[in-house]
Amino acid sequence: MTGHEAGCILCGGMTYEVVSERDRHGAPLCTRLCAGCGLIRNDPVPTADELDAFYASAYRESYKGASTPRLRQVLRNFDRTRQHILAFRDIYGRKGRWLDLGSGSGEFLFLARSMGAEAEGIEPHAGYSAYSRQTLGLPVRSATLDSGGCAPRSFDLIRLSHVLEHMRDPLQTLRRLRDMLRPCGVLYVEVPDIAEEARNRLRGRLFHYGHINNFDPTTLRALAGKAGLAELAATRQRAAGTTGLFLEAVPDLVPDAADLARNAALMRRIMADHAAALLPKPPKGTVVGRFAGRVSDRLREVVAAARLRRPRCIADESARQLRLALAR
Ligand SMILES: [Zn+2]
Repeated sequence: MTGHEAGCILCGGMTYEVVSERDRHGAPLCTRLCAGCGLIRNDPVPTADELDAFYASAYRESYKGASTPRLRQVLRNFDRTRQHILAFRDIYGRKGRWLDLGSGSGEFLFLARSMGAEAEGIEPHAGYSAYSRQTLGLPVRSATLDSGGCAPRSFDLIRLSHVLEHMRDPLQTLRRLRDMLRPCGVLYVEVPDIAEEARNRLRGRLFHYGHINNFDPTTLRALAGKAGLAELAATRQRAAGTTGLFLEAVPDLVPDAADLARNAALMRRIMADHAAALLPKPPKGTVVGRFAGRVSDRLREVVAAARLRRPRCIADESARQLRLALAR
């Protein structure tokens, strides 16, 4: 255990333990677990300049292997996004002005607009934002939260999917987003669940330079609470145990220290199990069954990608399916 120059952003704790010295590709990267709450954070946190340089060009290429999305990835993203919208159709049925912050390759925006939402995007990656504008015809700006110039109280729904884990100061980010919500506005935040990944992934395949903070269901909720954001009553049950939350502005909540200490113990155990396991635990079914499932998913994607040869065709087909499902 070592002390740290600044306290934990969630619990204020000063005691950490190193859980990994390598990133998921084997490169040096130090990652530490806070003994007070279980939040897992890269150390050191990169400077703003270092991050800018990383995202300006390297990120998408190192992450997905291309600066525009591959057809099969487009198909998969549209399928997942459509399922998500249908699972929370009560929330996405609300009207108003929406922002997708970190809109990536634009699937959510495309489907949201196909439902009639007044939705716009901000995407820092030049290649993905150009693709969103040119290929999908979306109102996406190449900017960041800092450079985007979004006014307070200007959105009814803000979506932040797989973005918060990249932020240097996610508490400050959440507070700014809360201030950007109109009265009764909703913030959707989704991040990878490090506890689930530790259970399901091969040993060592966890950490990433760009994922500065690695959340689990407890630390994500506690940080949101500290930023004055609480889960909507309408979605709490559906989102239980996940790291995808619909939040609304509330007075700041003080994290429950005993709860967080229990979470730290749980996370320490999960990380130790991950480090000791030769093979990940299958999430469900047998290894052979999961392999067969992956093959059939892949086959279905290949067939569909051959039929729908252009991203715009996939987008239009997905929007059509969404409209059909919503009409049922
Ligand atoms: Zn902590």
